[in-house]
Amino acid sequence: MSEGRVRDKVCVVTGAGGGIGAEICTRLASEGARVCAADIDESAVAAIAERIGGESAVSTRCDVTDRGSVKAAIERAVEEFGRLDVMYNNAGISQVKRLIDIEEGEWNRLMAVNGLGVLIGMQEAARQMIAQGGGGKIVNTASIAGKEGFPLFAHYCATKFAVVALTQAGARAWAGEGIRVNAFSPGVVGTQLWEQLDREFLELGETERAGQALEEFSEGILLGRVSEPEDVAGLAVFLGSDEADYITGQTVQVDGGMVFH
Ligand code: NAD
Repeated sequence: MSEGRVRDKVCVVTGAGGGIGAEICTRLASEGARVCAADIDESAVAAIAERIGGESAVSTRCDVTDRGSVKAAIERAVEEFGRLDVMYNNAGISQVKRLIDIEEGEWNRLMAVNGLGVLIGMQEAARQMIAQGGGGKIVNTASIAGKEGFPLFAHYCATKFAVVALTQAGARAWAGEGIRVNAFSPGVVGTQLWEQLDREFLELGETERAGQALEEFSEGILLGRVSEPEDVAGLAVFLGSDEADYITGQTVQVDGGMVFH
């Protein structure tokens, strides 16, 4: 791990209560950043901030579908640490459902968190960065599901295609303000999210035993294994660092070799 790539940068991470977001917070702090860990699960995110400890982290309850809540999370970071340098729009939810059976409420629920949540996070971060001056970085969490459509995750895929589109649009909208907007795109990561998906595959009768969906979904991974949050956090930190200053509008795969575009 290279040290100090984000020294003294002030970062907000949504969906920081577990999985990928929690690991991004830990890695950012270990490389010198100040972190505001934000999640709808207040106790989970408080535990992450406490684990990081010292003066490097604060936590706040934040529902990314609620603009006031996102503004408050950014304000918390600014109050505590003086500015906002990097916004990680990472909160996301998923569901296994046959395409033919997806209901309007399910579409709206996923799109609210994964699509609208990213839009609001980008807007409020950009407002803060423009007001304070000096540019900044926005890093969104996309997915292989934002590059290809899968029949048992069609609505989730649509939300992640939306994240890729917002990333490109944001890069074009705010390049003149010095704001870089990029995304990283994990494949199959062993988090609570996949535990839920694995259960849903079973309940739908698509698999016969626990763990089978994860195994089958991972068979084609060139590097031969499912990823852990540690496998993706390094790229997320890089995209928030000065080393990524000449990159914008990109969605970078970090999937062990699953999708090549
Ligand atoms: P996770 O379920 O472990 O963590 C997601 C976090 O988001 C949780 O702490 C949850 O409380 C929080 N959250 C949910 N709704 C929220 C809301 N409305 N506002 C704020 N926080 C909210 O999942 P993860 O695997 O760490 O997923 C993180 C991101 O990575 C998501 O955007 C997900 O779509 C994406 N992703 C995950 C995988 C994977 O295989 N796990 C693959 C590709 C992309």
